[in-house]
Amino acid sequence: MMTGSVLKLNELEKLARTGSSTDTMPVLFLGHGSPMNAIEENEFVRGFREAGSHLRKPRAILCISAHWETNGTFVTAMEHPPTIHDFGGFPPALYEVQYPAPGDPALAKETADLVKKTTVGLDQQWGLDHGCWSVVKHLYPQADVPVIQMSLDYNKPAAWHFELAKELAALRRKGVLIVGSGNMVHNLRMVAWDKLNEPGFGYDWAIEASTKMKQYMLDGNFQPLIDYEKQGQAFRLSIPTPDHFLPLLYILGLKEEKEPISLFNDKALAGSLTMTSVQIGNA
Ligand code: ZN
Repeated sequence: MMTGSVLKLNELEKLARTGSSTDTMPVLFLGHGSPMNAIEENEFVRGFREAGSHLRKPRAILCISAHWETNGTFVTAMEHPPTIHDFGGFPPALYEVQYPAPGDPALAKETADLVKKTTVGLDQQWGLDHGCWSVVKHLYPQADVPVIQMSLDYNKPAAWHFELAKELAALRRKGVLIVGSGNMVHNLRMVAWDKLNEPGFGYDWAIEASTKMKQYMLDGNFQPLIDYEKQGQAFRLSIPTPDHFLPLLYILGLKEEKEPISLFNDKALAGSLTMTSVQIGNA
């Protein structure tokens, strides 16, 4: 009898432990890079696939993409979000890609209701842009997990986005995988196009900013990242516009105090980009 009780207690403890690590979905920041990553085979695509292979299957995905900036904040609320080919000058094969994941109108409404900081509009016009589908397709190639997107309000400062993210935290405990998609270092004007296929090549300023960004992140010191505009020349060149950096702030805003943070695809590319991706929490 005593032995039985002890065993039961141990099992309960075990359950409690696994419960605390699996109830809350992790959050991801994915450095998406070129849209060609949707159809090419390379080490970054393998990195996305590897990260995806360890993840539980979520109820749905909420993606905050660098490529959807709006006046106000919106979530996609249609049943069947179209695959948007929001780029120019790429091979026909890229325009043929479809990622037919269903939408989740109920989750869109739930997300809008959760946010108190602003009024979140329910969008019927957008869909899934390449910031979302070019990477999410490597996590869930069957397109069998519903996906909604949340836009970036271009009127708001970085601190506002960081705070807004915190209001989404409850979704993590309801089986929703929140994915930010951008690039920490992203200066398209300075891309060394001849070095696109030589991962690891970064200009000095890109490496300097990337190193500092990672150090701040791993130290849990997010304020300098929120204040990225005050961090000097290397940051100015790395973040010439906020769009590709802000999705990272959403992911960091969702980190709970004791959660682990890990990096993957941590490489510079073509001089002025980094593909560095982040997972927060347990898979
Ligand atoms: Zn992009």
